[in-house]
Amino acid sequence: MALIRTEHLQKTYIIGDMEVHAVHDLSLSVEQGEFVTIMGPSGSGKTSLMNILGCLDVPTSGRYFLNEKDVSRLKRDDLATIRNSMIGFIFQQYNLLTRINVMENVILPMLYNEEKRYTRAEQVRKAEKSLSIVGLNDRMHFEIKQLSGGQQQRVAIARSLVNDPSLIMADEPTGALDTKTSYEVMQILQNLNEQMNISILMVTHSPEIAQFSRRIISFRDGTVLSDSPVEQRIMARDMLMQHIPKESLQREVE
Ligand code: ADP
Ligand code: MG
Repeated sequence: MALIRTEHLQKTYIIGDMEVHAVHDLSLSVEQGEFVTIMGPSGSGKTSLMNILGCLDVPTSGRYFLNEKDVSRLKRDDLATIRNSMIGFIFQQYNLLTRINVMENVILPMLYNEEKRYTRAEQVRKAEKSLSIVGLNDRMHFEIKQLSGGQQQRVAIARSLVNDPSLIMADEPTGALDTKTSYEVMQILQNLNEQMNISILMVTHSPEIAQFSRRIISFRDGTVLSDSPVEQRIMARDMLMQHIPKESLQREVE
């Protein structure tokens, strides 16, 4: 059973008297447990597609089945209910709220979960568990501003996990991070995919980061140009073992 299946999906924007086919006649399927990268130049329709697959928007025509349920004609509220209970989101700029602390940020998606109502104690316990998965349970009560970029992205990953999603959608999750921190984020995503069988759909511009996934879809003009498995998959833990910081090399020389 496919987690994601689209049939002749179409997203058309009308600007003045011009039609822009952002997603064009796209038929695609993704099984539960896959780790897929979408690559493509700016303007090729990646965001339009991610918005539909993430239940943030509906197609102009065609069908989208999520877990075999047709969600292409749902109203905003029903779409939101499905989105909150099934999908976690990670963004390039983390999108955390800086007015509330780490724990409250992670709790936030649970407040919008229509399917499951958690008591405050359950919310705190689930937030704690998610934060321990990303190695930040000792930062529960920190302010967002006290964290590095990499730590903020890990908080965002913890937030994406609290409603036990089947799918995580990551839009350029390493776009604002340095190399080592990017590997750390990819290690967490690979672990979630392998150990918890969470499906991941990621957009990246980096051909290297794409090699951490299992399947790469190249997108052009709203449709698939190529779709192939990653031949030589990179494991983040191997990269992190090889990645010896310059300072420690320096110390060894001294
Ligand atoms: P990408 O994420 O690959 O850069 P987008 O999905 O953002 O691609 O855009 C695909 C095409 O659709 C572009 O030509 C863009 O200008 C157009 N487009 C995207 N969003 C809108 C919108 N809300 N209104 C009108 N045109 C849009
Ligand atoms: Mg985009």
